[in-house]
Amino acid sequence: MKTKWLGYLLAIVYLSLAATVAAQDLGPKFKKVRDGIFVYTDALNESNCTIILTEDGVVLIDSGQSPKDSHVIAAALKKLTNLPVRYIIHTEPHSDHVLGDFLFSPPAIVVAHAGATASMKQAGLDAPGFAEKRSGESAALRDAFKGYRMVAPQIEYRDKMTLNVGERSLELYYLKNVHSEADTAIWLPKERIVFTAASVTVKRFGNHRPFVSIPDTLSAIKMMKGLNPEIVIPGHGDPGTVKILDEMEKYYNNLMDGVRQLVKQGKSLDAIKKELKLAGTEDWEGQDRFPNNIEAAYRAVTGK
Ligand SMILES: [Zn+2]
Repeated sequence: MKTKWLGYLLAIVYLSLAATVAAQDLGPKFKKVRDGIFVYTDALNESNCTIILTEDGVVLIDSGQSPKDSHVIAAALKKLTNLPVRYIIHTEPHSDHVLGDFLFSPPAIVVAHAGATASMKQAGLDAPGFAEKRSGESAALRDAFKGYRMVAPQIEYRDKMTLNVGERSLELYYLKNVHSEADTAIWLPKERIVFTAASVTVKRFGNHRPFVSIPDTLSAIKMMKGLNPEIVIPGHGDPGTVKILDEMEKYYNNLMDGVRQLVKQGKSLDAIKKELKLAGTEDWEGQDRFPNNIEAAYRAVTGK
């Protein structure tokens, strides 16, 4: 019996050493945020893909900006583990988060909020010629898209779900009206990591479609802050601390205040778009999206 336990202990020591060594081999595009948890992005503001290792297999949070990135992830996984990807959790159904799913599923099971499949189909991700069109952009993409097919999420949950994989627990929360038709925040209570989806960004304006609600976004931020996370991993942008949530909350509050004041002065939406400047956002990426952020605030302020 004693030798059996010693064996286990040695195996654990060996496995953690292997993971440490491998982490360094993954290269600068992978950031280790906790033991066995690695965030990958090729270039700043492309979507983050996170590898979560467990003793029962791998969980991926999204599958990369494009299938080119998914191949990089697949190669990294080979260095990290010989266990398969068990689940892919979508933070949102847009193409810059999901196109690489086909490399892992099956056997991986794709989990997303209700509405994800409809959104993917609506965007034509399963349309004939989609892969040809997208892969025509470069030779590297052409290779990466080989074998492409849209993977419709096998599980579409509603509102809340807990996924237990190996020693880890992942809590999924639907974020309503923050960015896409099906946004999911993921909370790892033991590791104190929250994945915010595209509800928050880092020095970058979100693209606010007509259904996006700033009051709903502010409640999503409040909910995630209430979890008391140590690590915050946005859908796009460098992982950081709760400061990411604080800064986004401050931005939306300032935006709402600014729009409210101008509405009170009788200004039209067009006039507000011309006039409103928010200190501290001058160097943000996606300045062309600021007008649709103002529109979202205007809708919230006026009810129109
Ligand atoms: Zn998106």
